[in-house]
Amino acid sequence: MTIKPILIHPDPRLKKLAAPVADLSDELRQLADDMLETMYDAPGIGLAAPQIGQLTRLIVMDCVKEEGAAPQPTVMFNPEVLAASDELNTYEEGCLSIPEQFAEVTRPAEVTVRWIDRDGAEQTRDFGGLWATCVQHEIDHLDGKLFIDYLKPLKRQLITRKMVKLKRERARF
Ligand SMILES: [Zn+2]
Repeated sequence: MTIKPILIHPDPRLKKLAAPVADLSDELRQLADDMLETMYDAPGIGLAAPQIGQLTRLIVMDCVKEEGAAPQPTVMFNPEVLAASDELNTYEEGCLSIPEQFAEVTRPAEVTVRWIDRDGAEQTRDFGGLWATCVQHEIDHLDGKLFIDYLKPLKRQLITRKMVKLKRERARF
């Protein structure tokens, strides 16, 4: 498995619509495994393929945070929100493409998601809590949407300016 470099906002590839997966291949499974490796290494709880420059509808997640609990690596091809609760939940979100920036985002508290798993089987499951927030955040990435797009323009611009500065500093070393 290979740890991939994660794109940092602003990057045009983070604003594009990702294409659905037609057929599962070993290359796509390899990509999913690399993404899990990259996510755990970061560390993060979710990663979408566009974040490593692949415009494919693929996300990986593991929202198990308790110390000592068994990991739950989750691979989703073509994930789709089928239903969302009226009840909302506010979480302080972050993003591996927007390092060290956090802001409260309000989303449906529960969602029903359908996807194709790593073995090519169709899955449908209800998510709540952190998993619900994470899966919606990651699916947004497939549509070129970032969590800062939910913030007021001034706050979004402030964060974007910080990221431009961060990228400039990183490029120097
Ligand atoms: Zn993100």
